[in-house]
Amino acid sequence: MKTIGLIGGMSWESTLSYYSLLNEGVKAALGGLHSAKIVLVSVDFAEIEAQQQRGDWQGAATLLAGAAQSVEAAGADLILICTNTMHKVADEIQQAIGVPLLHIADATGQALANDGIRKVGLLGTRFTMQEDFYRTRLAEKFGLEVCVPEESDQQRVNEVIYQELCLGKVTDSARQDYKRIIHALKETGVEAVILGCTEIALLIADADVDIPLYDTTEIHVQSALKASLTLA
Ligand code: GLU
Repeated sequence: MKTIGLIGGMSWESTLSYYSLLNEGVKAALGGLHSAKIVLVSVDFAEIEAQQQRGDWQGAATLLAGAAQSVEAAGADLILICTNTMHKVADEIQQAIGVPLLHIADATGQALANDGIRKVGLLGTRFTMQEDFYRTRLAEKFGLEVCVPEESDQQRVNEVIYQELCLGKVTDSARQDYKRIIHALKETGVEAVILGCTEIALLIADADVDIPLYDTTEIHVQSALKASLTLA
């Protein structure tokens, strides 16, 4: 089994999901007392969020590249950034290390392509929903047509992430709004919806909606488990 490196804390609520899902996956695969080999650097999300607000992506890249180097030095054979949004600086992070970074959008795009999905909805932070680093990657590498909610719904999705989910708050009003927004996406003809923020599965589950959901946290974890258990 290879050692999985995590750059976490963005937010720590979803890093908990990564930690437990990775361990559950190794237990399911190997049984007994087996558990995942993990090294984690968990950053202070307030610093990262302030950099996002200032548009200081270079500062964020430098901070996270340093975290990735620490994770590599601690023995990681592969590394995950436990957030969709900060994949905006994935290239800078990959350049700073000598082990593979498993890109969350590639894992997700591959899962959708394997299932034959062509047109998909995307929920995430405003950066993930609006900027090229995520949507264009899905379109160019996997031929996906990516649809996002209308502007006011994007604002609500983003607000729930930063003001509730990243603070550990899971409210019924947020769940109702997400259900409505997912339904509106379905009406545009998408075949599935990407939960493109690693906290959204804390709020919405398959049973809440009548369209397939692709949870990026779960998909990212599965790609790491596959790599950890099969890498030579
Ligand atoms: N965890 C979230 C994501 O997957 C949002 C937090 C962040 O801005 O990194 O995008």
